Amino acid sequence: MGKKVLVSGGAGFIGSHIVDRLIKRSDMDRLVVVDNFWTGVRENLEHIDDPRLHFVEADIETFETDERFDEVIHLASPASPPWYMREPVRTIKANLMGALNCVDKLVPGGRISFASTSEVYGDPLITPQPESYRGQVDCTGPRSSYDESKRCTESLLFELKRTTGIDIRIVRLFNVYGPRTRPDDGRAVSNFLSQALTTGELTVYGGGEQSRSWGYVDDIVDALERYFWLDDIAYPGPLNVGNDREIPVIDIAKYIVELVPGARLKMCPPIPQDPTNRRPDLTLCRQTLPGWEAKVGYEEGIRRTLQWFAEKVMKGASTNAP
Ligand code: NAD
Ligand code: UDP
Repeated sequence: MGKKVLVSGGAGFIGSHIVDRLIKRSDMDRLVVVDNFWTGVRENLEHIDDPRLHFVEADIETFETDERFDEVIHLASPASPPWYMREPVRTIKANLMGALNCVDKLVPGGRISFASTSEVYGDPLITPQPESYRGQVDCTGPRSSYDESKRCTESLLFELKRTTGIDIRIVRLFNVYGPRTRPDDGRAVSNFLSQALTTGELTVYGGGEQSRSWGYVDDIVDALERYFWLDDIAYPGPLNVGNDREIPVIDIAKYIVELVPGARLKMCPPIPQDPTNRRPDLTLCRQTLPGWEAKVGYEEGIRRTLQWFAEKVMKGASTNAP
């Protein structure tokens, strides 16, 4: 008998890339994807024609089935600040109640993998951030629904591991970008590319000196593929996964302006509690996944993503963005 795998949020940006990788597994004979199309889109999975894939349109926190799974990958949650800030309660439910329901769907001895975030470090006071850094998060601030529900879900899974021995894998992802991000997603790279191709005005918030570590999706999913489904990894996480080249937002915007004729910067006021910096300490990641490196620099990654966005924007993407 092959394995049964459940993915929540599989119609989203990262989720659909994970599904592509799962489909290549020969030890899996059933893959159930649960997504409510809040921020994901059906077309992200339309290219897959595999009888093992079953799609269920549902909220992960209330999804019901008699089936039990060997592996669950819990990705359901918006990752974009304007989307999660617009519906904070729904964000908390997706992460935390979604995780509880995912755990219920495991066979005894099954594994749950969870996409946490560099947001657990808040506006960090040390750089780079190792997993042992406890972070600087405002639990009543504008980003708290996302940050704190990720932190609480990490807590939930670690406590379940301690009390029941459940097998967990937790990653903290740092600013992932690439093809299949919604053009109206609202995060920096996707916003800048959509804006460059439409209005021409790239909205840089607060001067753009704040920095992030930008990970191209193929690199990140290479790491997730190894960490989430190799049986011989004992480390439960949390594991930083990202590209440790830290680049100011303004440099990303200026690079896109160079690439797209007519594009220009539009300097805008800062957004509240925008973290000033973010860079992963990848020591543990390199130990856990020997040989893995983020290979795609932002220049190459943005050129590849621009090509995808150009096709998408030309086709006219629909929007229900905040
Ligand atoms: P995304 O918004 O593209 O994908 C999220 C998917 O979850 C969407 O398809 C959405 O419809 C679905 N979803 C949301 N709530 C749901 C619910 N209650 N029930 C069922 N489906 C639901 O985001 P992404 O960038 O692909 O992020 C995937 C995961 O990785 C998220 O958990 C996110 O927090 C985490 N993460 C992403 C990044 C990043 O930079 N992209 C960074 C850190 C963490
Ligand atoms: N940002 C920006 N213009 C935009 C979107 C984002 O200047 O149109 C900035 C944002 O203020 C932040 C950085 O880019 O400093 C990364 O934002 P994103 O939403 O991509 O990710 P996060 O803030 O969650 O790291």
